[in-house]
Amino acid sequence: MYLSGTPLHVLGINLVQQFRERFGDRFPISFSAGIDRTNFADTVALGLTPITVCSDLLKVGGYSRSSSYFKELNTRMDSLGVSDIESYIFKAYGNAEQALRNIVIDYGDESVNAFRKSLQESGSQLKFSQVRKTLGAEIANNLLSEVKLLNTITYVEQATVHKRYGFEKNSTPPRKVGSMLELFDCLTCDKCIPVCPNDANFALHIPPGETEVLEFEQRSDKWHIKDRKTLKLEKKYQIGNFADFCNECGNCDIFCPEDGGPFVLKPRFFGNLESFQQFSSHDGFFIEKNNEAEKVYARFDGNEYSLSIKGEYISYSGPDFNIRFSKDDPMNTISGEAKSSVSFENYEIMQMMKTAVTDSSSVTYSSFL
Ligand code: SF4
Ligand code: SF4
Repeated sequence: MYLSGTPLHVLGINLVQQFRERFGDRFPISFSAGIDRTNFADTVALGLTPITVCSDLLKVGGYSRSSSYFKELNTRMDSLGVSDIESYIFKAYGNAEQALRNIVIDYGDESVNAFRKSLQESGSQLKFSQVRKTLGAEIANNLLSEVKLLNTITYVEQATVHKRYGFEKNSTPPRKVGSMLELFDCLTCDKCIPVCPNDANFALHIPPGETEVLEFEQRSDKWHIKDRKTLKLEKKYQIGNFADFCNECGNCDIFCPEDGGPFVLKPRFFGNLESFQQFSSHDGFFIEKNNEAEKVYARFDGNEYSLSIKGEYISYSGPDFNIRFSKDDPMNTISGEAKSSVSFENYEIMQMMKTAVTDSSSVTYSSFL
């Protein structure tokens, strides 16, 4: 199951609280769960570091969205009269007084009172370097740890009941147009390309056009054309998926307006034969080039096909056939064995894939295989 954004955030911060209940502030926590403009400053106040972001930056605007995180943090820090993160942690949720009580500090101490005063005075500039001088480094650090723990409790209480993180706000299914993706052609909105955290989806340069697809059958030891049809591609380019980069997180499916998932139904390319063979339940292609021949391995609906091109001759095999023919004149050169008629549709598709990923005018991951 794939989860990101606000539902993940509220689960993540609850986990932080459970961890801190057990271990206190002894271990730094690197946090990455549904961070966005709204909650970045909230989580900075828990003393989490580093805070990392993925899903939100995959939305429209990309990395430029992150500037709004810092604007919001600056606004909050300015309004609290602080200019460093530790002081922001002290003041963000108003928990410093409680923390002072929790760590049993002598309330008659002048330095403690000076610190308390700076907490309460609006407009006073609290600086952690000054707090360390006033209270001493050890007390200042203990106090900071205690405030982080209290802030965690406060924030988790708030976020857990906040509508933004609740079921109702997060139960709308992704918007879909009601059509199922196919190997070729789609709305070509390109959303699946930038939203992939692994950069596994790419534009596959197969130009639009019509390809005649022949079907051959053997009768009385002779091959005949049984049928002709047309494979028509309408879009300017196609969408491909590089299987070796894809961890099947499903994010591209969320953003794709069509059903089925680009990473499942669009042409999937494997980086080597081992990976093609290992993922035998996945349809896809592996293209191999060496000095002697070009080879295309493919799986369609779970059935394996292979194509070997040596000069003008082509060997083409599938689940129940193994044939050979000249590329330019299959009708008059075809030979081999077949248990039934042989459609050249998958052959034409394999040729298209080979041409697209070996096309030197466009660069894709698969071009480097
Ligand atoms: S499912 Fe694969 S291609 Fe789609 S976003 Fe996740 S990693 Fe990328
Ligand atoms: S596969 Fe889906 S998201 Fe990708 S270009 Fe086609 S319609 Fe858009």
